[in-house]
Amino acid sequence: MSLEESLKSSVVLISPSDIEESVKKIEEEIKSHEQIDIDFQKKIQEELDKLWSTLSWLKIAESQGVWKTKTCRHAIDGVCEAWNISDPGKLGIPQEVISVNQDGTKRVVIAKFYQICITCPLYEPRRSQ
Ligand code: SF4
Repeated sequence: MSLEESLKSSVVLISPSDIEESVKKIEEEIKSHEQIDIDFQKKIQEELDKLWSTLSWLKIAESQGVWKTKTCRHAIDGVCEAWNISDPGKLGIPQEVISVNQDGTKRVVIAKFYQICITCPLYEPRRSQ
């Protein structure tokens, strides 16, 4: 399996708010089942609390990504001009956030897909003129 093939299955595109919604539903579901004994409910709640804690980290990452889309010098009109993504699908980047230039380069519309900025090593703050 090539590196690109192995990357594909490890990329999951869900937002913290999607997870948050799912966790809330699970909590409501558990509470509605009165036949589940209290100890078991406590155990499940502990696991859910761990998920809430992970979610708070994801939200921080999300806010960092959004902030970087607005402050990076490579962000031009909501598009990242630093990366040329040859095969977005293999990296888990949705096709609808790709903008293809006349020269064939594929740029990511970061205004729609801030996730790529979160851990980007090419980030450089925009200099004030
Ligand atoms: S942080 Fe990275 S992905 Fe985001 S605009 Fe800058 S160079 Fe592009």
